[in-house]
Amino acid sequence: MFYQIDQYNFTGKRVLVRVDFNVPLDAGYHITDDTRIRAAIKTIQKIISDGGRAILMSHLGRPKNGPEEKFSLKHLVSRLGKLLGKEIFFANDCIGSEALSVVNNLKNGNIALLENLRFYKEEEAGDEFFAGQLAELGDVYVNDAFGTAHRAHASTAVIAKFFPTDKLFGYLMEDEIRNIDRVLHNAQPPVTAIIGGSKVSGKIAIIENLLSRVDNILIGGGMAFTFIKAQKGKTGNSLVEDEKLETALYLLAKARNKNVNLYLPGDAVIADQFSNDARIDICEIDSIPEGWMGLDIGPKTIEHYKEIIHRSKTILWNGPMGVFEIEKFATGTIEIAKELASATSNGCFTLVGGGDSVAAINQYSLADKVSYVSTGGGAMLEYLEGIELPGIAAIRNK
Ligand code: AMP
Repeated sequence: MFYQIDQYNFTGKRVLVRVDFNVPLDAGYHITDDTRIRAAIKTIQKIISDGGRAILMSHLGRPKNGPEEKFSLKHLVSRLGKLLGKEIFFANDCIGSEALSVVNNLKNGNIALLENLRFYKEEEAGDEFFAGQLAELGDVYVNDAFGTAHRAHASTAVIAKFFPTDKLFGYLMEDEIRNIDRVLHNAQPPVTAIIGGSKVSGKIAIIENLLSRVDNILIGGGMAFTFIKAQKGKTGNSLVEDEKLETALYLLAKARNKNVNLYLPGDAVIADQFSNDARIDICEIDSIPEGWMGLDIGPKTIEHYKEIIHRSKTILWNGPMGVFEIEKFATGTIEIAKELASATSNGCFTLVGGGDSVAAINQYSLADKVSYVSTGGGAMLEYLEGIELPGIAAIRNK
């Protein structure tokens, strides 16, 4: 058994917290989106209000070869301090004497931030000695970095063995796991998964895993055309993965076997080029003329999908319905997002996850109108595939 964070008393403890502060910075090193920092605040506040000493560690970007100014976590100190209303003690290194001296000077209720973990290649290599050096800084280990939970890195998984009893999830991790499990394991039917995005190749394992758990799958985005072509439809110049045609047929057959309704779009918004200046038209999804490509789901499909969403009690949404970055092809994604918000207000449980669907839901200011928005792109996808994430296993298992 491991502790729930609410039950743990951090008083007087040095609490080593793996957070995901991998935020975007502009050229002047200003944070352009602090969502990930805000997501960790509740856990940090619990630790310091108990009288614990919070020692925060994270990666930032992809430094190639040791320290680099643009990937320094010192750029986050002032925003973090403002969000918490507290002084942040920054350590110029994440291990060794520099880190130890900052940590040793902390008093109860203080917060330290360590320099970028990925300035050491040992972090991503999952090096045990490096994990041990990090572990020296804490009496208890908290993992609140859902965004990197699918990586078996030193600070996300390997380190847990140095804290055989005192290891736990932070609030964000607990929330993510509870909400995704609610769709995968405790869903109220009918359950509908809306899967979009560019390519079917990235979503095969998820669709397969969901086939045992959902009643309906609604397919949108570029990936629909591989299914359409596999069934001998005319897809014009739309995005098709020719090497996945067999896989598409296999998924359709498997859905039939499992009595899952796998719906493909009936119509599409087609364009003669990939831009806002394109000529556009609407046609049946399997009759796209040469020289034209499908870049959004059509009005008939939107109505059909809305009706299914309206009848569902649990919904998972991953991946846009079209090229939503271009206004002309954003309608399908906007309409689905709005319908999700409306279903939520009618008591449906709605989970949105994956980089682009989260970006879309934020862009349309609907994030607080769905039940839960997952912060982990890759981690959520792997969880949905049914993989046990190393960052979760390391806490749960002995
Ligand atoms: P993914 O990263 O696989 O979830 O795909 C997200 C991307 O898919 C977005 O950038 C969309 O612009 C793109 N996308 C959605 N629909 C289409 C389409 N019909 N053709 C080409 N790209 C698309």
